This record gives sequence, C-alpha cells and structure tokens, in this order.
Amino acid sequence: MESTFVRGIDSAIPLSRLGQLTQWKEVTALELKLAILCEKAASQEKEIDSDNMSNCPICLLELYEGLMQSERLDFEIQQQMILIQLKDLEREEFRDDFMINVVKLGNCNGMHFFHKECLEKQYKASGSDHYLKCTVCSQIYGKIIGTMPSGRMTWSTLRMSLPGFESCQKAIVINYDIPNGKLPTGVEFIGTQKTAYLPDNKEGQVILSLFAEAFRRRLIFKVDTYAAGQQNQIFWGTINHKTSPIGGSQYGYPDSTYFSKVKDQLAANGLTVDLIGTEIKQAQSQAGDIYT
Ligand SMILES: [Zn+2]
Ligand SMILES: [Zn+2]
Repeated sequence: MESTFVRGIDSAIPLSRLGQLTQWKEVTALELKLAILCEKAASQEKEIDSDNMSNCPICLLELYEGLMQSERLDFEIQQQMILIQLKDLEREEFRDDFMINVVKLGNCNGMHFFHKECLEKQYKASGSDHYLKCTVCSQIYGKIIGTMPSGRMTWSTLRMSLPGFESCQKAIVINYDIPNGKLPTGVEFIGTQKTAYLPDNKEGQVILSLFAEAFRRRLIFKVDTYAAGQQNQIFWGTINHKTSPIGGSQYGYPDSTYFSKVKDQLAANGLTVDLIGTEIKQAQSQAGDIYT
C-alpha cells in the first residue's frame, strides 16, 4: 500500500526511546478508521464534538489523507480485512506494509492519535529527553525534571489542628533549605528557607508523598530574577504551598479548595496520586529527610 504520509524523518531522533516512553501503538489505516468511527458513534451519544478526531492534534492535518472519504482507501481497507481474516496481519512483514506512521499514545485519557513524526518533532523541540506531554489531554509520559538547585527537605508532625481540619489533631510541618550556590552556568544565586503546612490526615499524607517526589525531581523551586540587574534568587515553582497555618487565602488555612488545586498543579508536573506505591514512594508523615 502506498503511504500518503512520507516525509523525511530525522534519523538522529531517538525513535525507540519515545516509543518506550509513551507506550505508543502504531496503527494501520483500518485500525485508525474503525477507532474514529467508534469514537464518533460514542461521542454522538454524549454530544461531544468529534469532528477533528481524524486530524493530528499537533500539525492539525489529516492523520491519513482521505481516511474518511477515499474509495481507494475503502478498497484497501477491504483488502486488509481479507488479510485479517486470513490472519496474515500477524506476520510482521505484512503489518509493516500497512503502517501509516500514525500512533496512539499508550496511557491517555481517551484515544489520542498523532503523526509519529509530529510527536518526534514535539519531543525534540521540548529540549527534554525525560518526558512528553499529550497536547490533547496533558497526560505526562516520563518524568519532568526541573532546574531546582540542590538542597534539603525535612518534615515532622506537630500537635496542632489546622483551620478547616479541626478533627485532625496533628499537622505536618515541612522545611525546605536551599543554600546559596552557583548554577552550572557559573551564575551565583541566593538560597532560601521555607516552611509549609499540611494536615496529618490521609489526604495530607498523599500530598506530602507527591511533594517529596517533586523535590527529588527538582520541581519545588526555581532560580530566577525579578528584574534585570537583580541577583538570582530562589522562587517557588508551580506547586502552591501553604506557608502559614492560619490566615486563609492563598498562603494559609482554611482553604477548602487547596487539595484539589494543588493536586491539579502536581498533575501538570506529572505527579499523580495513582503513582504512589508504584513509581512514587509513600512518605511517612512522622519524619523525613531528603537531599538532592
Ligand atoms: Zn501531524
Ligand atoms: Zn492524550
């Protein structure tokens, strides 16, 4: 079968690595068309717009030219169905003939298809060989590693009820210590010490485990300057901490929406609750000490 999506692929791109990272599955034109037809039928019931499902979310072009209209393709699909009935598709060399350079990401929230080449380009352009983010559902494949300088995270529990968690008798007190230092570029920065609070209940312990992993992945802080000419300093990253036990609003308790907000921020950094116990260690709230 003649593929209508053949463009130069940079052989320097680590194809094998990305496939492993995203657990992608290469699909044939038939598999793609059937998946789209099924999804369209399902989304009609749910009244979801699925018109653009046959396009690549990155380049916005058709995943496979003429997939939904072409008579030629329907003929080819019929041929493929015959082959499937003959079980010939199980033969690797045959399957290769029908590959159209379209892949489905392995662990998305939904069926998300891309041109293989577009994913390679996105991966390469991100400048990270650690992760890839699905542009449709934001699923993170791999690990995001930040630029936080080395430091120490410690925590312990204190007999104290945080406002909004009166039934919980203890709070987790986290201390972060990033000493003054030098970036790999030689630029000096001023360190920081910060304290943060969580209730010592089940949900607080889950957030603590994710914070600890975020610290290991160098995501809690970043080095930046406020204004040109100013010295480099340490700032919080994108994961919001409660730096006061009281006072409400952005930095203290009570805040009934804090857990859902911080879980979203952690998820945007690739840190989700379902990873605890498998990829991420469960943190014991009584005491802990991490050096990076
Ligand atoms: Zn594309
Ligand atoms: Zn996705």
